[in-house]
Amino acid sequence: MSLSINTPLLESLPLGRLNKTRVWMKMEAMQPSGSFKIRGVGHACEQHYARGARRFISSSGGNAGLAVAYAGRKLGVPVIVVVPESTSERARHLLSLEGADVRVHGKTWAEANELALSLLNNEDAFIHPFDDQLLWEGHASMIDEVVAAGLRPDAVILSVGGGGLLAGVDAGLRRNNLDIPIFAVETVGMSSFHAALKSGHPVSLPELTGVATSLGARQVCQRAFDLASEREIISLTVSDKQAVDACLAFLDDHRTLVEPACGASLAALYESQIDVSKMGNVLVIVCGGSTATTASLQGFKG
Ligand SMILES: *Cc1c(COP(=O)(O)O)cnc(C)c1O
Repeated sequence: MSLSINTPLLESLPLGRLNKTRVWMKMEAMQPSGSFKIRGVGHACEQHYARGARRFISSSGGNAGLAVAYAGRKLGVPVIVVVPESTSERARHLLSLEGADVRVHGKTWAEANELALSLLNNEDAFIHPFDDQLLWEGHASMIDEVVAAGLRPDAVILSVGGGGLLAGVDAGLRRNNLDIPIFAVETVGMSSFHAALKSGHPVSLPELTGVATSLGARQVCQRAFDLASEREIISLTVSDKQAVDACLAFLDDHRTLVEPACGASLAALYESQIDVSKMGNVLVIVCGGSTATTASLQGFKG
């Protein structure tokens, strides 16, 4: 059994026309938890369950927490998600819809995370949002599906938060012998991967700003940073406005609502920020996300 689904691989004619190449979209927004996170989180939860875990604990008020809540509901395992006071009503509502026990604690994520860790006993599994080998193994399955569908892309475009998606896609490319570049996109206010490359090691950003909250990791995981010396990874940043505009254009073109975190990757193509015209087939990971609404996107004043 797998908790994630085999998502559609669709060609985008508008984005292909705009970028003078063929653009393929892996539609992770269609996952039951609303984002790609269920691939890795689902895999991790299944492994922990098989090893005897009987409760899952998360401190993510975003798509990672939603994926844990979904996995717990499917496996019949109770889930506690500890979130800081700043977590939106909508996120709390979505978590409780999935049946999670949502506990609000502290002003910052660090405080919520501390409480979450203090709850752990030996029948619990703590599910990290991005820095865990099990997550990367699970995320890698999206590339297996692309290859099984008959596509061997010449480049991948994806968004980077803490770097779990990047590490997972890299793992998937490796096991399918695809030695191709990855375009790693962030919004300016959440650019922890960009900062790590500039500094020569992962660094903690003094602050996180902007609308792409699902990219809000102060520091990328070591694995994501290390990959930059093992494969061609092109880091780029887009503005919040570009990410939001890309979400709105994507909604019209492909009838799917995604978060600005995902819009960042789409903006690289909508704004033709990269020259992919010499690459035959470009794959963009439409990573999805459940916390945006049409009202929040339309109401954005950049
Ligand atoms: C988590 C998330 C990301 C970033 O993934 P990382 O593994 O943290 O790099 C991007 N987009 C969406 C919608 C997400 O939920």
